Amino acid sequence: MSFLVRRCCLTHNVNIFFTQRRFRYKKKWATQLKEKSHTDRALEYFDIYYKPFYAKLWPSIRISLLSQQKYGALVNNFSIDEDTVNNLSQLGAFDIIQQARDTEPLVEKSEHPTIGEVVKEMDPFRDPEENMEPEPDNLDMFMPVKKVYSDKQIKKQEEIKQSLYSPKDVVKTVPCLSTRLPENLKLYVYDLGNVSDFPKPTTVKSNLLDYYLLDAASILPVIALDLVPNDHVLDLCAAPGGKTLAILQTLLTENLVCNDKCRNRNQRLINVLRYYTNRNKDTSSIQVTCKNGLQFTEPIFDKVLVDVPCNSDRHVALNEDNNLFKPGRIEERIHLPKLQSDLLVAGIKSCKPGGSVVYSTCTLSFSQNDGVIQSAFETIWTETNINIVVEDMQPLFSRFRNTFNFFPKCRFGQLVLPKLSSNFGPMYVCKINRLQ
Ligand code: SAM
Repeated sequence: MSFLVRRCCLTHNVNIFFTQRRFRYKKKWATQLKEKSHTDRALEYFDIYYKPFYAKLWPSIRISLLSQQKYGALVNNFSIDEDTVNNLSQLGAFDIIQQARDTEPLVEKSEHPTIGEVVKEMDPFRDPEENMEPEPDNLDMFMPVKKVYSDKQIKKQEEIKQSLYSPKDVVKTVPCLSTRLPENLKLYVYDLGNVSDFPKPTTVKSNLLDYYLLDAASILPVIALDLVPNDHVLDLCAAPGGKTLAILQTLLTENLVCNDKCRNRNQRLINVLRYYTNRNKDTSSIQVTCKNGLQFTEPIFDKVLVDVPCNSDRHVALNEDNNLFKPGRIEERIHLPKLQSDLLVAGIKSCKPGGSVVYSTCTLSFSQNDGVIQSAFETIWTETNINIVVEDMQPLFSRFRNTFNFFPKCRFGQLVLPKLSSNFGPMYVCKINRLQ
């Protein structure tokens, strides 16, 4: 029989029997090829949850997230080389902190969000076939189960819940009190539309590196701290150390505890301190700790920075490695807003009355930004007698409007949106003052 088939194929010039094994169609490989990558999943998530909120701005934000990010060069004040600034200027870069000093603040009435409407519009639960009326809580009343959900569907629903939040009036906002831009901070960037790279930092005379490259918007949380000489500062989630270094570059304080739960990342922070400041982790004024941030609760710090783990939008949109949108990390993702809120509550508890806490993320997720501020306020009101208010940073940050593209619709914080001509961020910053 097989001889007959073979003959038939030969006579009809059909060569399936002679196709080399490696070129044969394999169903399994074909399905694997179609499988979504982690970056695909991240973008799909953004399109579901961010697009309705950012509306007309979304196409520009999306393309910017996928394009080359812009960096800023933070000048190292501990390396005694006057040429650094000259070299950066010769490259065509300029100091955005100086530019902000020369720019008048602009007080804009922020357009408060229509998040309720947005949520209604985007509710992925909404199924035209299904009546979504809430079911009664009364257990005496027997209600037949309409649908049994699989584990996967339950996870999906939890993900939906963690991605949205319902605004409540629990947050009190006061006008901006901070007006200072730290005298010694110098952060060089290229002009709008110029996407040149900075040369790699080099070691200068003092054996220290001359500048540190970071997303220029990372300077905003440090400015929001409004440091004054000898402030006792806690950087709760500090590694790999970009913002820690910026705090030190203000030359206003070395009275600093930098903490990070992750040992490997902490090592990177220690290296930053070594290569940029000559301090090692055991100098009396800078202390590096490796604890769970939730353990900090003693009110002993004047200023606290809570730069939490988040969706890290740029990273997950572009990198397969260590991607939070890996299917196996869904639980971690679902629990992020709760972890962020708990870390912020710990930061508020660690702050002295009269001090300030700055919360920051590098995500566009409104549940991880304004949503976390609201949830931390709820916890503080209900579980403690601490009194806090949000300080509106818009007037001070408006001095950076020539560099950063701010979203006008946040309820509490300020958010830098990526834009092709100034591709910084996302960076969300919210300042909370502890009154009591
Ligand atoms: N501030 C850093 C900088 O500017 O370089 C970036 C911090 S990164 C956004 C968030 C950090 O939080 C990660 O290094 C992570 O290891 C740390 N982290 C996560 N969970 C934590 C926890 N429970 N306590 C303290 N740190 C935590």
